[in-house]
Amino acid sequence: MKCGTIAFIDTIERVRVLAIRYAGGERAMLQGAYREFHHRLQEQIDSRRIYTDPLSTLAYGTDASCYRLTPKIVVKTQHESEVQAILALAAELALPVTFRAAGTSLSGQAVSDSILVVASHGWKGIEVLENGAAIRLQPGVVGAAANAALAPFGRKIGPDPATINSAMIGGIVNNNSSGMCCGTAQNSYQTLRAIRVVLADGSVLDTADAASVAAFRTSHAGLLGQLAALAARVKSDVELAARIRRKYKMKNTTGYSLNALVDFTDPLDILTHLIVGSEGTLAFVSEVIYHTVVEHPHKASALVFYPTIKAACDAVQVLAQHKDVVAAAELLDRASLRSVENKAGVPELIKTLSEDAAAILIETRAADPAALAANTAAIAGFIGHIDTLTGVAFTDVASEYTQLWNIRKGMFPSVGAMRAAETTVIIEDVAFPIEHLAEGTLALQALFKQFHYDEAIIFGHALEGNLHFVFTPNFSGAEEVARYEAFIEAVCRLVAVDYEGAVKAEHGTGRNMAPFVEMEWGPVAYRVMQEIKAIFDPQGLLNPDVILTSDALLHVKDLKPIPVVDALVDKCIECGFCEVMCPSRAITLTPRQRIVANREMAALRSAGDAPDRLAELEALYQYAGDDTCTTCGLCETACPVGINTGKLTTQIRQGRQSDTGWAAANWLAGHYDSATRGARLGLKLLDATHAVAGDAATGAVMRGLRRVFGRRVPHWTPYFPRAAGKFNYAQGSGLDAAAAREGKRATTRQYEQYGEESRSAADKVMQRQQARNKVVYLPSCLTRTFSPSSAMPDPRPLNEVVASVLGKAGYQLLYPAGLDNLCCGTPFKSKGALDAAAVKLAELKAALLAASDNGRWPVIVDNGVCTAAMLEGIQDERLRILDVTTFIETEAAAHLHFTPLDEHVALHVVCSMKKLGQGATLNALARRCSSRVTEPAGITCCGFAGDKGFTYPELNASALTGLKEQVGGCCGGFSTSATCEIGLSEHAGIPYQHLMYLVDRATHRLG
Ligand SMILES: Cc1cc2nc3c(=O)[nH]c(=O)nc-3n(C[C@H](O)[C@H](O)[C@H](O)COP(=O)(O)OP(=O)(O)OC[C@H]3O[C@@H](n4cnc5c(N)ncnc54)[C@H](O)[C@@H]3O)c2cc1C
Ligand code: SF4
Ligand code: SF4
Repeated sequence: MKCGTIAFIDTIERVRVLAIRYAGGERAMLQGAYREFHHRLQEQIDSRRIYTDPLSTLAYGTDASCYRLTPKIVVKTQHESEVQAILALAAELALPVTFRAAGTSLSGQAVSDSILVVASHGWKGIEVLENGAAIRLQPGVVGAAANAALAPFGRKIGPDPATINSAMIGGIVNNNSSGMCCGTAQNSYQTLRAIRVVLADGSVLDTADAASVAAFRTSHAGLLGQLAALAARVKSDVELAARIRRKYKMKNTTGYSLNALVDFTDPLDILTHLIVGSEGTLAFVSEVIYHTVVEHPHKASALVFYPTIKAACDAVQVLAQHKDVVAAAELLDRASLRSVENKAGVPELIKTLSEDAAAILIETRAADPAALAANTAAIAGFIGHIDTLTGVAFTDVASEYTQLWNIRKGMFPSVGAMRAAETTVIIEDVAFPIEHLAEGTLALQALFKQFHYDEAIIFGHALEGNLHFVFTPNFSGAEEVARYEAFIEAVCRLVAVDYEGAVKAEHGTGRNMAPFVEMEWGPVAYRVMQEIKAIFDPQGLLNPDVILTSDALLHVKDLKPIPVVDALVDKCIECGFCEVMCPSRAITLTPRQRIVANREMAALRSAGDAPDRLAELEALYQYAGDDTCTTCGLCETACPVGINTGKLTTQIRQGRQSDTGWAAANWLAGHYDSATRGARLGLKLLDATHAVAGDAATGAVMRGLRRVFGRRVPHWTPYFPRAAGKFNYAQGSGLDAAAAREGKRATTRQYEQYGEESRSAADKVMQRQQARNKVVYLPSCLTRTFSPSSAMPDPRPLNEVVASVLGKAGYQLLYPAGLDNLCCGTPFKSKGALDAAAVKLAELKAALLAASDNGRWPVIVDNGVCTAAMLEGIQDERLRILDVTTFIETEAAAHLHFTPLDEHVALHVVCSMKKLGQGATLNALARRCSSRVTEPAGITCCGFAGDKGFTYPELNASALTGLKEQVGGCCGGFSTSATCEIGLSEHAGIPYQHLMYLVDRATHRLG
């Protein structure tokens, strides 16, 4: 009979196989044309990237909008030729196709109930051109990654949506996204130099390639002729052309970019600019080249309070005349200010403002401090004649202006976080001609009152007349949906008809505003848009119903349900900000998708009417949702409402623990020394095999065993650690005779220098020196179990390296008693055994208090993951716990002599250190030690997660995609966690060791 653990592992294995089958489509329940499409597509695209299972399709059925559509087939593409194949097949079978980048769209343009083509992973190409003057980008590049590549040149891309850390180029171009500073002058429409597209007929056009252009002019002469004729017709309609020009003075993403028809004459230019903002309804974008814009290094901001919204809008009108010096001006209404008034760092004054008050947050940027000072003086002068409540005071102190912008950025999350259960957060996005901004804002406020959306707040990029309003309707009942429908109709009439504004300024039309495009543009312009669609997509298969629809009620259909799951995740607004942080994002689910899945499973459990679907989802979730979540918690760092999906995973694991599991965890907690001894014994056996058989044979044997016994046999690589030897309680050299003598001499000198009265001060100095000389060192259980593999350049165990460095710095090391049994609890917590984890933490705390003389000496830890766990779990003011690297950088460095090595090294900041905000500290320490340090971009949590790199190596491999290319020139890598270093070494192709190995090589005793 199998023991509980093995039976449990077998279950997991069965579920995983089931999951892979689903991913491969073996259980696809597709009918008719979709079945045919799926069958034929598998001949052209790796079936592991084609998904038809209920979990994946559910997970990709959501974007940041209030809509849910479940695709029948999801294809994760990686090459242009795959998109061509999909479009050809879809055209033949008349099946609609929707493209998706990061899925942060708010208007429902990135969801589909047909075929969803994801172009994110595998589309990450970045090429900086002409010293940063231009940049070539593939559609899966995150906006912030493009800007990081341009930063050394003092440049950035023009579009600056608030989602720049998540949104990808495919979405940024196709939504014509913009943000606080880019206005209408630096969006994709204005800054696009060239585009490469796949048209609905499968043909490729690259406007940067003369040969491609020439060929296209011949092959698609008909299409280009139609565009030229349309443009000529529009230009000859004086009234329409004037209207188009007028409407694009504001931000406007309602309908197609009609300005392309009046701004250009060459049909190729018209085509290029019509694609911008077309929301995937005209073509697939496989590459763009942007002209870049200057990123000024010097900034100043002022939060200016006005007695009324009218006064604030008067100031905005003036500021809009001076966009050469005003980079941004955010209008904040009274309700938006109230939404953050209790947050830390928000001026107290806000609480005292009258009901009519408003504010503007102004930013100016310049190349140097003198120009910045001139800008701030000029701006204060421009608006000086308009009465304010507190004057116009700029700050150029980074911490202060960051605080001001955090107030503005905190508004949307604060409404999201305070909303009632089951409600949805909606951010609407309208623009008024700037001369009507005050009236428009007041009229909007009146509509909130009329429709009882009392929680609504307004803020926006006022220079462009762009206002966002945030409110939280509940779509769980017909009455509430009707209220929303009537409200949106009233808003559209107010904006589009009464003030000739734009119902979508920057978020794109989507399904949300498609029914109102004709209301805004009128029948003539609408007809032009229909013709554009027909020219590009005669079968109407590209993202149908998005931008143009014949369904007047589309905006209130397919509304997303938000069932209650758990307080840990109920505030989730499905924005997708967390996705870029997640190590499993490319192979299974993202944090947002885990939450979506849990919402659906919770609804199914509560309704109880679809047990088969629930069982299917639960089975699939085991691998995709649970096994491949590392519980790193990095999702929390990007989440506007502070959700850590890893906590949900831990809670699910806890709930799933069987009695046998609990008993095993408790036994392990009580016999931790036996467990580590057992692990060392296993490693010794492996060492012995490896010593005889070598890398190749050991790898082959382990792979074979894994094939037979599954995940219970660890994934082996030449970087697999060896067993640690007998632990060396090295003492460092702290209070050695010489140091003690020197300390005494210094104190005597001070007595002599300052006389008897300063004796107590001198005693303090002595105490401090003594305190500097002792430190409690907790070597993690990994340090006590592993020693470096033979593939590592430095074979010494980590504890000896730490002792060497601290010895040079003059510290004596103290070790807690019962070290073999001590553990920070992480191995237990990550498996959901929270009680066992708490027991281990309590034991550890007691041991550390004893070793540190009740907190007299600092405690240092040599594994970043353990440091974070201890800082979170041991809340005792007496103990000062630091990661060893933080201790070196912030305290011991002063007692060491650093000689930077002339070596190019890679640094990986482990997820827990990132969460602690220690990235900069680690980077600074690495830079003390080495002339060149590379911290690869786009690598978040490495996915090793203690033991997942042994059991689920595919997660580690996926999370570290792109690492090897970025560290190609490095001679070694450094990090702060022994297990993470195993996977990093394998996937980077260079050995990674703890940063202390580098510190040891680069330091000497002082003097
Ligand atoms: C809280 C919040 C704040 C936001 N703030 C802003 C803001 O300040 N400004 C702003 O403009 N937007 C904002 N947005 C909306 C959205 O984040 C942006 O428009 C973003 O640029 C969309 O990029 P994405 O990668 O998520 O695209 P997706 O949502 O994946 O796609 C956007 C559109 O592009 C199409 N598409 C994607 N890739 C391709 C491709 N390769 N070829 C053809 N079509 C493609 C899709 O079909 C879809 O129609 C915000 C969203 C949220 C949730
Ligand atoms: S968890 Fe947070 S970041 Fe992720 S989708 Fe939900 S609200 Fe957005
Ligand atoms: S805890 Fe880590 S692995 Fe889990 S969902 Fe969050 S980011 Fe992804």
